Amino acid sequence: MVAEINRHEEALRPIPMEELRGKTAMFRDRLSKGETLDQLLPEAFAVVKNCCRRFTEEKRNIRVRGQEILWEMIPFDVQLIGGMVLHSGRIAEMATGEGKTLVATLPTYLNALSGKGVHVVTVNDYLAARDAEWMGEVYRELGLTVGCLQHGQTQAERRAQYACDITYGTCSEFGFDYLRDNGMATTPEDQVQRGHFYAIIDEVDSILIDEARTPLIISGPVTVSTHQFDKYRSSIESLVRKQNGLCTDWANQAKEKVEKGDLQGAGRLLFKVKMGSPRNKLLLKFQEDPGTRRAIDDAELEMYQDTRRTELYKTKEEMYFSIDERNSEADLSEMGRTFLNPSDPNFFLVPDLITKNHDIETNASLSAEEKLKAKQAAQADYEEASQRIHNISQLLRAYCVFEKDVHYVVQENKVVIVDEYTGRLMPGRRWSDGLHQAVEAKEGVQIDRETQTLATITIQNYFRLYEKLAGMTGTAETEANEFKDIYRLGVVVIPTNRNCIRKDADDLIFKTRREKLNALIEEIKKRHAAGQPMLVGTASVESSEIISRMLRRENIPHSVLNAKQHQLEAEIVARAGERGAVMIATNMAGRGTDIKLSPGVAELGGLHVVGTERHESRRIDRQLRGRCARQGDPGSSQFFISFEDDLMRNFGDSRRIAGLMTKLGMEDNEGLQHPWLNRSVETAQKRVEQRNYQIRKHTLQYDDVMNQQRTVIYAWRTDILNSTDPRPEVFETVDERISTEVEARAGTDPVDLDGLVHWANSAMPVGLQKEDFQKAGGKEEWAKLLKAKVREAYEVKVRFENPEAVKALERFVLLGAIDRLWQEHLYAMDGLRTSINLRAYGQKDPLIEYKNEAFSMFGELMGRIKEEVVHNLFRSASSLSAFESFLSALPQRTGRGELPVQAQARPVDTEGSMSMSAGADTAVEEALAPMKRQGPKLGRNDPCPLDAKKKFKNCCGATGSKVCLKVSA
Ligand code: ADP
Ligand code: MG
Repeated sequence: MVAEINRHEEALRPIPMEELRGKTAMFRDRLSKGETLDQLLPEAFAVVKNCCRRFTEEKRNIRVRGQEILWEMIPFDVQLIGGMVLHSGRIAEMATGEGKTLVATLPTYLNALSGKGVHVVTVNDYLAARDAEWMGEVYRELGLTVGCLQHGQTQAERRAQYACDITYGTCSEFGFDYLRDNGMATTPEDQVQRGHFYAIIDEVDSILIDEARTPLIISGPVTVSTHQFDKYRSSIESLVRKQNGLCTDWANQAKEKVEKGDLQGAGRLLFKVKMGSPRNKLLLKFQEDPGTRRAIDDAELEMYQDTRRTELYKTKEEMYFSIDERNSEADLSEMGRTFLNPSDPNFFLVPDLITKNHDIETNASLSAEEKLKAKQAAQADYEEASQRIHNISQLLRAYCVFEKDVHYVVQENKVVIVDEYTGRLMPGRRWSDGLHQAVEAKEGVQIDRETQTLATITIQNYFRLYEKLAGMTGTAETEANEFKDIYRLGVVVIPTNRNCIRKDADDLIFKTRREKLNALIEEIKKRHAAGQPMLVGTASVESSEIISRMLRRENIPHSVLNAKQHQLEAEIVARAGERGAVMIATNMAGRGTDIKLSPGVAELGGLHVVGTERHESRRIDRQLRGRCARQGDPGSSQFFISFEDDLMRNFGDSRRIAGLMTKLGMEDNEGLQHPWLNRSVETAQKRVEQRNYQIRKHTLQYDDVMNQQRTVIYAWRTDILNSTDPRPEVFETVDERISTEVEARAGTDPVDLDGLVHWANSAMPVGLQKEDFQKAGGKEEWAKLLKAKVREAYEVKVRFENPEAVKALERFVLLGAIDRLWQEHLYAMDGLRTSINLRAYGQKDPLIEYKNEAFSMFGELMGRIKEEVVHNLFRSASSLSAFESFLSALPQRTGRGELPVQAQARPVDTEGSMSMSAGADTAVEEALAPMKRQGPKLGRNDPCPLDAKKKFKNCCGATGSKVCLKVSA
């Protein structure tokens, strides 16, 4: 195939540029005549390659992000292969510096010929803009249009970008546009995307794996707040202080035991400390020592070996709460509960709903109604308690697991998350589930209003929308299984253009972080003196800064990149290959930028990469190493690690390592190097990777349930948006609602005809009497009668309206109901997810429980949407006067009661936005106020005009009405 492409390309060389450009139209023509993209591939790739050749030969300069770049690349054969892999819908693993940006142009051009829009997904806005300008030169030259999404663009701008043949952008921009298009747009013109045909994801592992842990969420403030973080903050603070005191005592006792030679006893105590206060200073110190470290592990092992966990539970009860750092969970003990609420420790215990319900059910002294009431009360109790416990455990996590300047920073009175993978700050992102508010409470900054999910999708499910998906990265192999299972994406490893001659040294391991950093600085000093450039990769902003401080003391000039300013950092990192350069970077910083060696550096061994910590995932480490030795350059890499690193503390097989250390004879202040150690580290990493995969899978399994529901709702919405006449949809909904109601009322014994008459008249102005139904016949006839009457009444209503306004109104009634209730549903689903995990104690599989309940909740949701449509159909109008005319035109006998006067007519602005924001609503209510209050305003104790013997509050006012029903009728 490659040979074929090259043959075609050769044939293209002599033709004039005009003719080359003409190929695009010709290809499109052939496609329309039935040829396939696969058939066109060799010729289309040849056209792109030939275009690159022309640019190179004419020494074309292209303005990219404000700088002139000379085009000097013609795709290599391996790049052609990479392009074919991408076209086939798979992942191409190509090392850093192999020119993946250029590779993508081949399948992008080919697939864009279809006219359906190709999306190229980059890791940040800067790269999207860079690649759209840079690679865009080829597409534009060949007569295709290129767009680029950037944060902050208006809807009109976005639509224009999507209208292009090719669109570059980040994954969040694409995902959020999808959510807005389908969850929020109220007219087809508001939608910006035009389908999901083919996407190529650059740095695919970073997007489909690292980013996939947090779903995309559009949220708005909730109406009712449920959080009580402020309320519990100070008690939790003293609780944590108490616990820390306790743990320090144990740690000191352990110290004595160690001194007396009782390692086993010390291990037990220290394990308790680990459970109660994992970041206790003394504990951390003991963990450095192989002997005590092993004793702690032995104690832990012993506890977990007991299948009944009695010992473990007993230990947990000896402290106020216990923390599981691995699962980031926090649990109150009896002692903690008593401390927080001495009078009623059960205040912080979830009631056992199942037993309670069972007791109520079997209580013979209760009537059916009392049982129902009792159950409702039990349910309410349960929900309140869950909420409370949830608040407390989030606060505990905030205090004990989440550390300032590691997991988050406080900036301008806000808590900003630090991405644990990249060290990058993520302003605007918030931890979900109240954790963010809990941390805000801890830091004493303004607690932002709780937000409610308005629309959400996981990255996994967003990308599953595409007909065809492809990706490229330097490191996909270790995650090949996940790509296969979740995205059905195969991974193909493409050989490098030139052999890679990078030298990867064994890890250098130290007892403590301090020793490690000192050795690291020595190493940097040595190589810097020789003039060799170095890239120092860190796992967090914090460690970047520590190293920077240490280098400043040594007067070594260096730059620090924290992935905060993409463009600037890209420019800086491009110079990391210069003689004597020292660059400290978190692993996301300057990603996607090529590091070229300056003259003379190759002789010094090329770029040397040092990792200051092993990352949780092997892939990220490989990425760091891949920063050097590109395109056959020389280069080398090494990791410096210590037993105090988080990875080693939490996941290291310390028994083995401690054994190895003793065997190999490790001295203080001295690094140890051995291939065995590398393997131990890898085992730890594999463990974390596995766990993280489980977490992502878990998120996805839950989102899959939601995804089915979202698909139904979004498809329904899109139909409504795109229909020229929404009325059939309205009546379909109304008819379904009528059928359900008739079925339900006819299904009782005796048949509930009174109920049906009442429902019909209060829901719709049909003015039907019981006799009308009796005359009509059986339930089929009832439904028929109702459906006919509704249409009749609706005819009356629309007589007073402008036909175009009616269409907008109908659409609004449908969308309004769907959106409002869907958002409520999302909120309820959030709640379900929280409470379902508490149920896990009941030995049920929470996922199955979640699915069952989500299913029935969705059924209810659909019912409620229909009910609301019916309800609002006659209670909305495009203007107040149309509504009044309609009211007065209703047949006399459908007066009060059949269409309550308190009806919420919503005049709808058919031109402007139809969002149901709180502000707009108030305006509507004010406009309606005169209608509601036709009579004199009555005081609560005034006699009611309807029945002068009663006070107003006990008569009409008892129903919540502000006016007397007699007066308003
Ligand atoms: P990757 O994304 O694979 O790490 P890039 O797309 O950033 O690599 O490209 C790395 C460098 O290689 C860029 O400077 C680019 O100009 C150069 N390059 C890519 N393809 C070619 C080629 N065919 N010939 C010469 N240089 C190339
Ligand atoms: Mg790249």
